[in-house]
Amino acid sequence: MHTRLTLTQGDITQQTVDAVVNAANSSLLGGGGVDGAIHRRGGPEILAECRALRASRYGRGLPTGQAVATTAGRLPARWVIHTVGPVHSATEDRSDLLASCYAQALRTAAELGARTVAFPAISTGVYRWPIADAARTAVATVRATVATTPEAFDEIRFVVFDDRSHAAYQTALAEH
Ligand code: ADP
Repeated sequence: MHTRLTLTQGDITQQTVDAVVNAANSSLLGGGGVDGAIHRRGGPEILAECRALRASRYGRGLPTGQAVATTAGRLPARWVIHTVGPVHSATEDRSDLLASCYAQALRTAAELGARTVAFPAISTGVYRWPIADAARTAVATVRATVATTPEAFDEIRFVVFDDRSHAAYQTALAEH
């Protein structure tokens, strides 16, 4: 089966997919941007599971570049996969950590049996990653990961909020 990579401009919380990826922070206890929107619309069940994960596996928080799944509460999805993007740095190349978010989120999705997965533009909001570079990393990592697991996914959907991000992903998807 061939995995489709698609691009949508809209709200990540309104995507009807198996798994929605959250641009979380390591506390797993909520924040602004995508994180705030997911908890607001998804309801308290997601936060309750995040709290339980903090109490059990991630006492020090979820490390940057890793991913973990919870229920999706009231969202039109089955799971939320929380991943922590790196804060962009002008002095240190953290691209590997950004790539790891996509790879680990997909690994988690595959373990759950999630065949359709929606990603926001991780780290491009509060974490200030330049959108063109983030889009390139996102697309390249997703392509490389699905190439190694060609049976796992039907669709990987990139969901962006604004026109500029949409254009950046269009460019990245057109590159090889
Ligand atoms: P980070 O902390 O990883 O930078 P943010 O949530 O601040 O994450 O932003 C990530 C990207 O998601 C930004 O480009 C932002 O414009 C976009 N964004 C914010 N809210 C939503 C939403 N509800 N749906 C889709 N994209 C969103």
